[in-house]
Amino acid sequence: GVRVRFAPSPTGNLHVGGARTALFNYLFARSRGGKFILRIEDTDLERSTKESEEVVLRDLAWLGLSWDEGPDKGGSFGPYRQSERNTLYKEYAERLLNSGYAYRCFCSNEELDKMKEEAKLKQLPPVYTGKWVSATDEEIQEELLKGTPFTYRFRVPKEGTLKINDLIRGEVSWRLDTLGDFVIMRSNGQPVYNFCVAVDDASMGISHVIRAEEHLPNTLRQALIYNALGFSMPSFAHVSLILAPDRSKLSKRHGATSVGQFREMGFLPEAMVNYLALLGWNDGTEEEYFTMEQLFNKFSIDRITKSAAIFDFVKLRWMNGQHLRALPADKFTKILGEHWKNSGILSESEGPFVNEVAELLKDGIDLVSDSTQALVNLFSYPLQSTLASPEGKGVLNDNLSEVVEALLSAYDNGELQNALENGSSGWQKWVKSFGKALKRKGKGLFMPLRVLLTGKLHGPDMGTTILLLNKAGNSGIITSSAN
Ligand code: GLU
Repeated sequence: GVRVRFAPSPTGNLHVGGARTALFNYLFARSRGGKFILRIEDTDLERSTKESEEVVLRDLAWLGLSWDEGPDKGGSFGPYRQSERNTLYKEYAERLLNSGYAYRCFCSNEELDKMKEEAKLKQLPPVYTGKWVSATDEEIQEELLKGTPFTYRFRVPKEGTLKINDLIRGEVSWRLDTLGDFVIMRSNGQPVYNFCVAVDDASMGISHVIRAEEHLPNTLRQALIYNALGFSMPSFAHVSLILAPDRSKLSKRHGATSVGQFREMGFLPEAMVNYLALLGWNDGTEEEYFTMEQLFNKFSIDRITKSAAIFDFVKLRWMNGQHLRALPADKFTKILGEHWKNSGILSESEGPFVNEVAELLKDGIDLVSDSTQALVNLFSYPLQSTLASPEGKGVLNDNLSEVVEALLSAYDNGELQNALENGSSGWQKWVKSFGKALKRKGKGLFMPLRVLLTGKLHGPDMGTTILLLNKAGNSGIITSSAN
C-alpha cells in the first residue's frame, strides 16, 4: 500500500514550501487510500527546538492535513522523532559494518584535512583516499585496543552510475566515482543525516518519497544505503522550487513566507490549501478553485509540473476572497463578527446587526481583515470631499438645496426617524412619498439622498446602509474606538 511521509526539520516555522510538500504527500496518500506519516527530523540537536515542532504540528493541523502516524499519535513504525531512533541507527550501522558495506575509519581530522588539501592541489574531487578502506583486521584491532575514536564510512562503489526514475523529473543518474566514501556514523556515535533518512524511510515502509527538489542530491547517498541494506527502493518524486514573483528564491523580504503568518493575517485554511495545491500542480483544465474534497479526487503525481512555481501574493489574496464568499453565511458572519470584536470595532461579535453588515460587505472583501476598513467606510460620512469631487459637483448642481431642505424638515418633525423605526418597509414607504412631494424619482431622487444621508456617491444598498446606520447610532453597537 501507499505510505508517504512529511519529514520536517523542527528548526523554524512551517514555510509555505514545506506546507506544499506536506499537502502533496497528504493528497497522494488520501487519493490512493494510503497512509500519511509525520516524522520529525531533529538530528541537528543544536538547531532543533520543541517550540518549532509544536508550531509545525499546529500549522499542519490548521491546514487540515491530518497524519495517520506521528510523534503525537504513535503508530507501529515509531518512534517518529529521529532523536529517539538512535538504537535503530546503531543497529543498521552494525549491519552495514558486518556485511562489508561500511568500515571503521580511524583517520584523525588532521589526516582528513590533508587529504582534502591534496585533492584540491591535484584538482580532484575531495574523495576519501585513506588507508582504512582496505585495512587489515590486525590494524583495526590495534586501534580499537588503543581506544582511537572512529567513524563508520560507507564503501561507495568506485565506478559505475546510479540511476533513479524520478516520477517528476524522469531519469536521474549520478556517476559514483566522484562521490567518495561518506561517513554514516560520527565518532561520538551520532548518525549522519542521510543515513538516518534512508534507514527511516526503509524501516517505516515508505513507498513514495515526495519532497523538494533541493533534496535530490541526497537521494544518491540514500539510494546506496537502501541497496546496501537490501531494501527495495521507494519511488521518488522531487517537486520543483517555489520562487518569488521576481523569480528569486522566496524569502522574508518578499513578505510572509510561513503558514503561521498567513493564518495571523486572516487567510482561510481552505484558501491556503487550494493555493498551495496549484503551486506546481493542475488538474489539466483551467479550473483553479478546489475544495480539499475535490483535491482528493483529482490529485495525481503525473500532473505535477517540472518547472518552478511562482508564489503570487495577489493571487493568493484573490483565492482567499473566493473561499471567503463560498463559506456558509453563518460561518462567514461568525468570522467577521469575531474579527470586528477583536479589533475593538464592535461591542458584540454577533447579533442581527452583524448579520446584516456581513451580508452587505460579503462581495467586496478578499480577506477578513479588509472588512475592518470596509466597515469603517460604510459608516463614514465624507460629505465634503464627496461634493468636492467632479462627480459630486454634478449632484451639487442638481438643485441640492431643495432636497436638503425637505430632508431637514423630515428630520425636524421626526418623520424620517419614525420611518426608520419601521425597518425596510417603513424606509421604502417614506422614500416614495418623499420623492413624490419633490417630484423626483430614480437617480434624480436617490443620488442626492444617498449623498446627503451617507456622505458618499457609491456603496451597497442605501436602504440597508441607512437602517444599519440608524441602528448602530441608537444602540452603541459600534464602539467609540471606531469613530
Ligand atoms: N528534513 C528535511 C527538510 O525539512 C526533509 C527531508 C526529506 O524529505 O527527505 O527539509
